[in-house]
Amino acid sequence: MSREVVLQIFSGGFLEKFVPYDAVRQKLNFILDRMPVHKVIMGWQFPSAEDTQSSPSAKTLYEETAAFLSRKNIEFYLWFPVFSETGSVRELDSLVDIHGIKNEYKSDTSEDFSFCCPGNMQNIEKILNIFTQEFDSICFDGVFLDRIRYPSFANNHGESFKSVYSCFCPHCLSVYEKYNLDIDKLKNSLSFPALLPLGINEYRGNGEYGFSEKIISDFFEVKAEIIYKSLEYICGFFREKKYGIGFDIFAPFLSPFTGQNPVKLSGLCDFIKPMMYRATNAPAGLPFETEALLCETGCTNDKKRNAFFKTLGINPDTENFDLFFAARELKNLTAASACPVYAGLEINRVKDKANVTPAYIEETLHAYSKTGIKGFALSWNLLDAPEENILKAADVIGKINSV
Ligand SMILES: [Zn+2]
Repeated sequence: MSREVVLQIFSGGFLEKFVPYDAVRQKLNFILDRMPVHKVIMGWQFPSAEDTQSSPSAKTLYEETAAFLSRKNIEFYLWFPVFSETGSVRELDSLVDIHGIKNEYKSDTSEDFSFCCPGNMQNIEKILNIFTQEFDSICFDGVFLDRIRYPSFANNHGESFKSVYSCFCPHCLSVYEKYNLDIDKLKNSLSFPALLPLGINEYRGNGEYGFSEKIISDFFEVKAEIIYKSLEYICGFFREKKYGIGFDIFAPFLSPFTGQNPVKLSGLCDFIKPMMYRATNAPAGLPFETEALLCETGCTNDKKRNAFFKTLGINPDTENFDLFFAARELKNLTAASACPVYAGLEINRVKDKANVTPAYIEETLHAYSKTGIKGFALSWNLLDAPEENILKAADVIGKINSV
Protein backbone atom coordinates (compact mmCIF):
# COMPACT_ATOMS: atom_id res chain seq x y z
CA MET A 1 0.00 0.00 0.00
CA SER A 2 1.31 3.42 -0.97
CA ARG A 3 1.82 5.87 1.91
CA GLU A 4 0.57 9.41 1.37
CA VAL A 5 2.58 12.49 2.24
CA VAL A 6 1.33 15.54 4.10
CA LEU A 7 3.56 18.61 4.45
CA GLN A 8 3.47 21.18 7.21
CA ILE A 9 4.65 24.77 6.78
CA PHE A 10 4.88 27.27 9.62
CA SER A 11 4.74 30.63 7.92
CA GLY A 12 4.38 32.78 11.06
CA GLY A 13 2.21 33.47 14.12
CA PHE A 14 -1.08 35.43 13.89
CA LEU A 15 0.55 38.84 14.01
CA GLU A 16 4.01 37.88 12.84
CA LYS A 17 5.93 38.76 9.74
CA PHE A 18 5.27 36.12 7.09
CA VAL A 19 7.52 34.45 4.57
CA PRO A 20 7.22 35.61 0.96
CA TYR A 21 5.33 33.37 -1.47
CA ASP A 22 8.46 32.84 -3.60
CA ALA A 23 10.25 31.17 -0.68
CA VAL A 24 7.30 28.83 -0.11
CA ARG A 25 6.93 28.03 -3.83
CA GLN A 26 10.63 27.27 -4.23
CA LYS A 27 10.62 24.92 -1.27
CA LEU A 28 7.41 23.24 -2.48
CA ASN A 29 8.82 22.81 -5.99
CA PHE A 30 11.98 21.26 -4.60
CA ILE A 31 10.02 18.64 -2.68
CA LEU A 32 7.29 18.07 -5.34
CA ASP A 33 9.97 17.25 -7.90
CA ARG A 34 11.01 14.42 -5.63
CA MET A 35 7.86 12.95 -4.11
CA PRO A 36 4.08 13.08 -4.56
CA VAL A 37 2.33 15.15 -1.88
CA HIS A 38 -1.37 14.86 -0.98
CA LYS A 39 -1.95 17.72 1.43
CA VAL A 40 -0.15 20.89 2.48
CA ILE A 41 -0.89 22.45 5.86
CA MET A 42 0.16 26.07 6.32
CA GLY A 43 -0.45 28.82 8.86
CA TRP A 44 -1.23 30.83 10.76
CA GLN A 45 -0.61 34.56 10.34
CA PHE A 46 -3.57 36.74 9.53
CA PRO A 47 -4.11 37.31 5.79
CA SER A 48 -4.41 40.98 6.73
CA ALA A 49 -0.84 40.99 8.09
CA GLU A 50 1.22 43.35 5.97
CA ASP A 51 4.85 43.26 5.01
CA THR A 52 5.95 46.69 3.94
CA GLN A 53 9.18 45.50 2.35
CA SER A 54 8.18 42.73 -0.05
CA SER A 55 4.74 41.38 -0.85
CA PRO A 56 1.62 43.43 -0.05
CA SER A 57 -0.01 41.16 2.51
CA ALA A 58 -0.14 37.61 3.78
CA LYS A 59 -3.37 37.26 1.83
CA THR A 60 -1.23 37.05 -1.31
CA LEU A 61 0.82 34.27 0.22
CA TYR A 62 -2.31 32.21 1.00
CA GLU A 63 -4.00 32.92 -2.32
CA GLU A 64 -0.93 32.21 -4.45
CA THR A 65 -0.20 29.02 -2.52
CA ALA A 66 -3.84 27.91 -2.86
CA ALA A 67 -3.75 28.49 -6.64
CA PHE A 68 -0.38 26.71 -6.99
CA LEU A 69 -1.58 23.65 -5.04
CA SER A 70 -4.93 23.55 -6.81
CA ARG A 71 -3.15 23.32 -10.20
CA LYS A 72 -1.29 20.31 -8.85
CA ASN A 73 -4.36 18.66 -7.28
CA ILE A 74 -2.95 18.98 -3.77
CA GLU A 75 -5.28 19.79 -0.87
CA PHE A 76 -4.57 22.97 1.08
CA TYR A 77 -5.32 23.10 4.82
CA LEU A 78 -5.08 26.06 7.17
CA TRP A 79 -3.01 25.30 10.28
CA PHE A 80 -5.09 26.84 13.05
CA PRO A 81 -4.24 26.84 16.78
CA VAL A 82 -7.45 26.65 18.81
CA PHE A 83 -7.08 26.91 22.58
CA SER A 84 -3.71 28.65 22.72
CA GLU A 85 -2.25 31.55 20.69
CA THR A 86 -5.82 32.76 20.06
CA GLY A 87 -5.69 34.54 23.43
CA SER A 88 -3.13 36.93 21.98
CA VAL A 89 -5.66 38.27 19.46
CA ARG A 90 -8.95 38.02 21.36
CA GLU A 91 -9.92 38.59 24.99
CA LEU A 92 -10.48 35.00 26.19
CA ASP A 93 -11.24 33.59 29.64
CA SER A 94 -8.07 31.95 30.87
CA LEU A 95 -7.64 28.63 32.60
CA VAL A 96 -7.82 28.49 36.38
CA ASP A 97 -5.51 26.09 38.22
CA ILE A 98 -6.33 23.92 41.22
CA HIS A 99 -5.22 26.69 43.59
CA GLY A 100 -7.73 29.07 41.99
CA ILE A 101 -5.03 31.05 40.18
CA LYS A 102 -5.61 32.21 36.60
CA ASN A 103 -3.18 31.04 33.94
CA GLU A 104 -2.41 34.50 32.56
CA TYR A 105 -1.57 35.15 28.96
CA LYS A 106 1.85 36.44 28.19
CA SER A 107 2.03 39.35 25.78
CA ASP A 108 1.44 38.84 22.07
CA THR A 109 4.44 36.61 21.41
CA SER A 110 3.97 33.70 19.04
CA GLU A 111 4.21 30.13 20.31
CA ASP A 112 3.51 31.22 23.89
CA PHE A 113 1.55 28.07 24.82
CA SER A 114 -0.81 29.90 27.17
CA PHE A 115 -4.17 28.18 27.06
CA CYS A 116 -7.69 29.50 27.50
CA CYS A 117 -10.46 27.45 29.10
CA PRO A 118 -11.47 24.96 26.38
CA GLY A 119 -14.89 24.27 27.90
CA ASN A 120 -16.07 27.87 27.77
CA MET A 121 -18.58 28.53 24.94
CA GLN A 122 -17.84 32.25 24.83
CA ASN A 123 -14.19 31.44 24.20
CA ILE A 124 -15.15 29.01 21.44
CA GLU A 125 -17.39 31.56 19.69
CA LYS A 126 -14.62 34.16 19.80
CA ILE A 127 -12.09 31.66 18.43
CA LEU A 128 -14.42 30.70 15.56
CA ASN A 129 -14.95 34.39 14.93
CA ILE A 130 -11.19 34.74 14.30
CA PHE A 131 -11.57 32.18 11.54
CA THR A 132 -14.64 33.83 10.04
CA GLN A 133 -13.15 37.30 10.06
CA GLU A 134 -9.66 36.46 8.89
CA PHE A 135 -9.56 33.20 6.96
CA ASP A 136 -12.97 32.33 5.56
CA SER A 137 -12.40 34.15 2.26
CA ILE A 138 -9.29 32.09 1.35
CA CYS A 139 -9.79 28.94 -0.74
CA PHE A 140 -8.78 26.32 1.81
CA ASP A 141 -9.89 22.72 1.39
CA GLY A 142 -9.80 22.23 5.11
CA VAL A 143 -8.61 23.23 8.54
CA PHE A 144 -5.93 21.51 10.55
CA LEU A 145 -6.73 22.11 14.20
CA ASP A 146 -3.80 22.34 16.60
CA ARG A 147 -3.68 23.00 20.39
CA ILE A 148 -6.99 21.19 20.80
CA ARG A 149 -6.17 20.38 24.39
CA TYR A 150 -5.33 21.61 27.86
CA PRO A 151 -1.70 22.46 28.65
CA SER A 152 0.65 19.54 29.18
CA PHE A 153 3.21 19.04 31.94
CA ALA A 154 5.71 20.88 29.74
CA ASN A 155 3.66 24.07 29.61
CA ASN A 156 4.17 26.11 32.80
CA HIS A 157 7.13 23.84 33.44
CA GLY A 158 8.44 24.14 36.98
CA GLU A 159 5.14 25.15 38.55
CA SER A 160 4.06 21.78 39.77
CA PHE A 161 0.59 20.70 38.64
CA LYS A 162 -0.40 24.20 37.63
CA SER A 163 -0.78 23.28 34.00
CA VAL A 164 -2.22 19.77 34.03
CA TYR A 165 -4.41 20.37 37.09
CA SER A 166 -6.78 22.76 35.37
CA CYS A 167 -9.36 24.03 34.72
CA PHE A 168 -11.17 25.13 37.88
CA CYS A 169 -13.09 28.12 36.58
CA PRO A 170 -16.77 28.41 37.66
CA HIS A 171 -17.91 26.86 34.39
CA CYS A 172 -15.64 23.80 34.68
CA LEU A 173 -16.47 23.38 38.37
CA SER A 174 -20.15 23.07 37.43
CA VAL A 175 -19.25 20.34 34.91
CA TYR A 176 -17.29 18.45 37.60
CA GLU A 177 -20.29 18.68 39.87
CA LYS A 178 -22.45 17.14 37.17
CA TYR A 179 -20.03 14.22 36.97
CA ASN A 180 -19.82 13.98 40.81
CA LEU A 181 -16.10 14.66 40.75
CA ASP A 182 -14.93 15.30 44.30
CA ILE A 183 -12.47 18.22 44.09
CA ASP A 184 -11.24 17.85 47.69
CA LYS A 185 -10.48 14.21 47.04
CA LEU A 186 -8.62 15.21 43.88
CA LYS A 187 -6.55 17.76 45.82
CA ASN A 188 -5.70 15.15 48.47
CA SER A 189 -4.63 12.66 45.82
CA LEU A 190 -1.92 15.06 44.68
CA SER A 191 0.04 14.70 47.89
CA PHE A 192 -0.24 10.92 47.83
CA PRO A 193 3.34 9.57 47.50
CA ALA A 194 3.55 7.11 44.63
CA LEU A 195 6.31 5.22 42.86
CA LEU A 196 4.95 6.11 39.43
CA PRO A 197 3.66 9.51 38.27
CA LEU A 198 0.15 10.15 39.65
CA GLY A 199 0.00 6.56 40.91
CA ILE A 200 -0.01 4.97 37.44
CA ASN A 201 -0.04 1.20 37.76
CA GLU A 202 -0.65 0.08 34.18
CA TYR A 203 -0.47 1.24 30.58
CA ARG A 204 -2.73 -0.50 28.06
CA GLY A 205 -1.93 1.61 24.98
CA ASN A 206 -3.95 4.33 23.21
CA GLY A 207 -3.56 6.60 26.24
CA GLU A 208 -5.36 4.20 28.59
CA TYR A 209 -3.74 4.09 32.02
CA GLY A 210 -4.64 2.37 35.23
CA PHE A 211 -4.25 4.64 38.30
CA SER A 212 -4.22 3.50 41.92
CA GLU A 213 -6.56 6.40 42.78
CA LYS A 214 -9.84 6.34 40.86
CA ILE A 215 -10.32 10.07 41.32
CA ILE A 216 -7.33 10.71 39.04
CA SER A 217 -8.66 8.63 36.15
CA ASP A 218 -12.11 10.19 36.68
CA PHE A 219 -10.57 13.67 36.46
CA PHE A 220 -8.79 12.96 33.18
CA GLU A 221 -11.92 11.33 31.76
CA VAL A 222 -13.99 14.43 32.48
CA LYS A 223 -11.32 16.66 30.93
CA ALA A 224 -11.32 14.48 27.81
CA GLU A 225 -15.12 14.72 27.70
CA ILE A 226 -14.95 18.53 27.86
CA ILE A 227 -12.43 18.65 25.00
CA TYR A 228 -14.51 16.18 22.98
CA LYS A 229 -17.73 18.17 23.38
CA SER A 230 -16.02 21.44 22.46
CA LEU A 231 -14.45 19.89 19.38
CA GLU A 232 -17.74 18.30 18.38
CA TYR A 233 -19.21 21.80 18.28
CA ILE A 234 -16.19 23.29 16.49
CA CYS A 235 -16.22 20.52 13.87
CA GLY A 236 -19.93 21.14 13.30
CA PHE A 237 -19.06 24.75 12.46
CA PHE A 238 -16.44 23.71 9.90
CA ARG A 239 -18.52 20.84 8.46
CA GLU A 240 -21.30 23.27 7.71
CA LYS A 241 -18.80 25.26 5.65
CA LYS A 242 -17.76 22.03 3.87
CA TYR A 243 -14.19 22.09 5.12
CA GLY A 244 -12.11 18.96 5.61
CA ILE A 245 -10.85 18.61 9.20
CA GLY A 246 -7.55 17.29 10.51
CA PHE A 247 -6.44 17.08 14.15
CA ASP A 248 -2.94 17.59 15.53
CA ILE A 249 -2.81 15.39 18.63
CA PHE A 250 -0.28 14.30 21.23
CA ALA A 251 1.32 10.86 21.17
CA PRO A 252 -1.23 8.50 22.76
CA PHE A 253 0.76 7.88 25.98
CA LEU A 254 0.93 11.65 26.62
CA SER A 255 -2.59 12.49 25.45
CA PRO A 256 -4.75 11.82 28.54
CA PHE A 257 -2.86 14.38 30.63
CA THR A 258 -3.90 17.05 28.11
CA GLY A 259 -7.56 16.03 27.94
CA GLN A 260 -7.24 14.14 24.68
CA ASN A 261 -8.73 10.72 24.06
CA PRO A 262 -7.12 9.94 20.68
CA VAL A 263 -9.45 7.12 19.69
CA LYS A 264 -12.60 9.07 20.54
CA LEU A 265 -11.35 12.21 18.82
CA SER A 266 -10.65 10.22 15.65
CA GLY A 267 -14.41 9.91 15.22
CA LEU A 268 -14.80 13.67 14.74
CA CYS A 269 -12.35 14.45 11.94
CA ASP A 270 -11.09 13.26 8.54
CA PHE A 271 -7.58 12.47 9.70
CA ILE A 272 -5.45 12.62 12.83
CA LYS A 273 -1.76 13.33 13.08
CA PRO A 274 -0.20 12.10 16.31
CA MET A 275 3.01 14.04 16.89
CA MET A 276 5.53 11.22 17.15
CA TYR A 277 8.50 13.56 17.43
CA ARG A 278 11.35 11.43 18.77
CA ALA A 279 14.04 14.07 18.35
CA THR A 280 12.25 17.19 19.54
CA ASN A 281 13.19 18.93 22.76
CA ALA A 282 10.29 21.37 22.64
CA PRO A 283 6.54 21.11 23.37
CA ALA A 284 4.91 17.95 21.90
CA GLY A 285 8.36 16.35 21.49
CA LEU A 286 8.41 12.88 23.06
CA PRO A 287 11.63 13.29 25.10
CA PHE A 288 10.66 16.82 26.20
CA GLU A 289 7.13 15.98 27.31
CA THR A 290 8.21 12.74 29.02
CA GLU A 291 10.89 14.54 31.05
CA ALA A 292 8.40 17.24 32.04
CA LEU A 293 5.88 14.58 33.13
CA LEU A 294 8.48 12.89 35.35
CA CYS A 295 9.79 16.17 36.70
CA GLU A 296 6.42 17.76 37.49
CA THR A 297 5.19 14.64 39.27
CA GLY A 298 8.33 14.37 41.39
CA CYS A 299 9.54 11.17 39.74
CA THR A 300 13.10 12.19 38.96
CA ASN A 301 15.16 9.63 40.84
CA ASP A 302 16.39 6.53 39.03
CA LYS A 303 14.06 4.16 40.83
CA LYS A 304 10.94 6.10 39.88
CA ARG A 305 12.11 6.85 36.35
CA ASN A 306 12.88 3.21 35.68
CA ALA A 307 9.57 2.08 37.12
CA PHE A 308 7.75 4.43 34.74
CA PHE A 309 9.72 3.34 31.68
CA LYS A 310 9.27 -0.32 32.57
CA THR A 311 5.50 0.02 33.05
CA LEU A 312 5.13 1.67 29.65
CA GLY A 313 7.69 -0.54 27.91
CA ILE A 314 10.01 2.32 26.93
CA ASN A 315 13.74 1.77 26.51
CA PRO A 316 15.23 4.98 27.99
CA ASP A 317 18.76 4.30 26.71
CA THR A 318 18.35 5.08 23.02
CA GLU A 319 19.83 8.17 21.32
CA ASN A 320 16.44 9.53 20.30
CA PHE A 321 13.17 8.53 21.97
CA ASP A 322 12.56 4.76 21.75
CA LEU A 323 11.67 3.96 18.12
CA PHE A 324 10.00 0.63 18.90
CA PHE A 325 7.76 2.15 21.55
CA ALA A 326 6.77 4.99 19.21
CA ALA A 327 5.95 2.49 16.44
CA ARG A 328 3.91 0.39 18.90
CA GLU A 329 1.93 3.47 19.87
CA LEU A 330 1.15 4.12 16.21
CA LYS A 331 0.16 0.52 15.58
CA ASN A 332 -2.31 0.53 18.47
CA LEU A 333 -3.77 3.83 17.37
CA THR A 334 -4.22 2.89 13.71
CA ALA A 335 -5.94 -0.33 14.78
CA ALA A 336 -8.48 1.58 16.86
CA SER A 337 -8.81 4.89 14.98
CA ALA A 338 -12.05 5.75 13.19
CA CYS A 339 -10.19 7.87 10.61
CA PRO A 340 -6.86 7.62 8.75
CA VAL A 341 -3.71 8.27 10.79
CA TYR A 342 -0.75 10.24 9.46
CA ALA A 343 2.37 9.72 11.55
CA GLY A 344 3.87 13.09 12.44
CA LEU A 345 7.65 13.15 12.28
CA GLU A 346 10.10 16.01 12.09
CA ILE A 347 12.03 16.87 8.94
CA ASN A 348 13.08 20.34 10.08
CA ARG A 349 16.27 20.98 12.01
CA VAL A 350 16.27 23.56 14.78
CA LYS A 351 19.38 24.25 16.84
CA ASP A 352 19.13 22.88 20.40
CA LYS A 353 15.51 21.84 19.79
CA ALA A 354 15.43 19.27 17.01
CA ASN A 355 18.65 17.72 15.79
CA VAL A 356 17.01 15.92 12.88
CA THR A 357 19.42 14.06 10.61
CA PRO A 358 18.91 11.95 7.45
CA ALA A 359 19.70 8.81 9.50
CA TYR A 360 16.96 9.69 12.00
CA ILE A 361 14.48 10.27 9.17
CA GLU A 362 15.36 6.97 7.53
CA GLU A 363 14.92 4.77 10.61
CA THR A 364 11.76 6.61 11.67
CA LEU A 365 10.04 6.38 8.25
CA HIS A 366 10.86 2.70 7.94
CA ALA A 367 9.52 1.79 11.38
CA TYR A 368 6.40 3.98 11.13
CA SER A 369 5.57 2.63 7.65
CA LYS A 370 4.90 -0.80 9.15
CA THR A 371 2.21 0.34 11.59
CA GLY A 372 -0.85 0.55 9.34
CA ILE A 373 -0.73 4.32 8.90
CA LYS A 374 -2.26 6.10 5.91
CA GLY A 375 0.88 8.14 5.46
CA PHE A 376 3.45 10.52 6.88
CA ALA A 377 3.03 14.12 7.99
CA LEU A 378 6.42 15.69 7.39
CA SER A 379 6.47 18.24 10.19
CA TRP A 380 6.62 20.70 11.61
CA ASN A 381 8.09 23.20 9.23
CA LEU A 382 9.17 22.44 5.69
CA LEU A 383 10.85 25.86 5.50
CA ASP A 384 13.39 24.80 8.15
CA ALA A 385 14.07 21.41 6.57
CA PRO A 386 17.63 21.08 5.22
CA GLU A 387 17.90 19.75 1.67
CA GLU A 388 19.64 16.59 2.87
CA ASN A 389 16.64 15.78 5.07
CA ILE A 390 14.18 16.29 2.22
CA LEU A 391 16.29 14.19 -0.15
CA LYS A 392 16.49 11.37 2.39
CA ALA A 393 12.75 11.49 3.07
CA ALA A 394 12.03 11.36 -0.69
CA ASP A 395 14.42 8.47 -1.20
CA VAL A 396 13.03 6.38 1.68
CA ILE A 397 9.35 7.08 0.93
CA GLY A 398 10.02 6.19 -2.72
CA LYS A 399 11.46 2.85 -1.64
CA ILE A 400 8.63 2.16 0.84
CA ASN A 401 6.02 2.90 -1.83
CA SER A 402 7.71 0.79 -4.51
CA VAL A 403 7.39 -2.42 -2.48
ZN1 LIG B 1 -12.59 26.33 32.77
